[in-house]
Amino acid sequence: MSHLVETLIRPEIQALKAYDVPDATGLIKLDAMENPYRWPEALRDDWLAALREAELNRYPDPQARDLQAALREAMAIPPDMGVLLGNGSDELIQMLALAVAAPGEQTRADAAEAGGEALTNATSGRPTLLSLDPGFVMYRMIARFVGLEYVGVALSAADFALDLDATLAALEHHRPLLTFIAYPNNPTGNLFDPAVIERIIAASPGLVIVDEAYAPFTDASFLPRLGDWPNLLVMRTVSKMGLAGLRLGYLAGPADWIEQIDKVRLPYNINCLSQASATFALRHRDVLDAQTETIRSERDRLASALAELDGGQGRLEPFPSDANFILVRTRPGRAGALFTGLRERGLLIKHLDGSHPLLADCLRITVGTPDENAALLAALAALLDDH
Ligand code: PMP
Repeated sequence: MSHLVETLIRPEIQALKAYDVPDATGLIKLDAMENPYRWPEALRDDWLAALREAELNRYPDPQARDLQAALREAMAIPPDMGVLLGNGSDELIQMLALAVAAPGEQTRADAAEAGGEALTNATSGRPTLLSLDPGFVMYRMIARFVGLEYVGVALSAADFALDLDATLAALEHHRPLLTFIAYPNNPTGNLFDPAVIERIIAASPGLVIVDEAYAPFTDASFLPRLGDWPNLLVMRTVSKMGLAGLRLGYLAGPADWIEQIDKVRLPYNINCLSQASATFALRHRDVLDAQTETIRSERDRLASALAELDGGQGRLEPFPSDANFILVRTRPGRAGALFTGLRERGLLIKHLDGSHPLLADCLRITVGTPDENAALLAALAALLDDH
């Protein structure tokens, strides 16, 4: 790294590892919670015909009105709620963080700390983003990007349940501006008790964002509860329902929040091809819904098959999932070898061992097509027998 790079780039950015996306060329891709199904050919033709109307020489509709209308209808977003679109929900997390982060205050807090001045509370009054660990890595990364302090409250070690007492204590102590709760959670796959989430929303001094990225795979949702608390927003994405390539997330909630957060949105953040494609896809949602149904039943089938494969020997423990992936725990020290063995057999999953103490010996498997899942089970059976 050149001296100039080292001097100019903030130390906390230098300390970060870039978001890692492994090369999946030639592998069965079960690592990123994608929907494995393409569209039927006839629908692809209709979609391409719809794209012919797109005017690439013009900027896209800045408000993406057609798409907003299609989303509101498809997702039954309460009509009095505002909606904000992002280039993936990742961008929405970043917009939320940008809208509340106050670098000036952070600097003042740092200065006070450096001068040894007594600060009013243990967090030095730093603007904070709180979430649950292990959880979705982008909450932590984006907090770092914008100078927010990240606080992760540990889930319970046995079953990854939300620890209400610890979370309430953290809310009291850190007074977070933003609290993100992934529901279902990634990478653990479980839903938290909705009554516990309600307690957290009610006790939060700041904004609570229930991140429903995996909504297609569960019946639980806080979307119908929007408006019940003034500090609740619900975030979703079309990625997991089969449109990961489009990069489109949406945030719904009381209009006064949405209006303010919209101010940090970059102009034209949803390009015209994404707008046209997503609007088209939502109008043919029955295809995506049918695929989602298949994935849900494959998930349950795969979970039982994984448990059966183990046969009670403790070599592979699948955790319950309400999402389109399954977290599994291997025997101590075996996760790396299983991950590598699967890759050698042409299957890419996610290796989580080492990413968080509660994820020791853990792997995350995205649910694929029946054929892909069968290939995974066959490879796992061979690998488990070998060891
Ligand atoms: N939230 C959660 C909980 C996720 O797991 C993910 C993606 N893995 C996202 C948000 C980001 O989704 P998007 O593709 O819309 O950026």
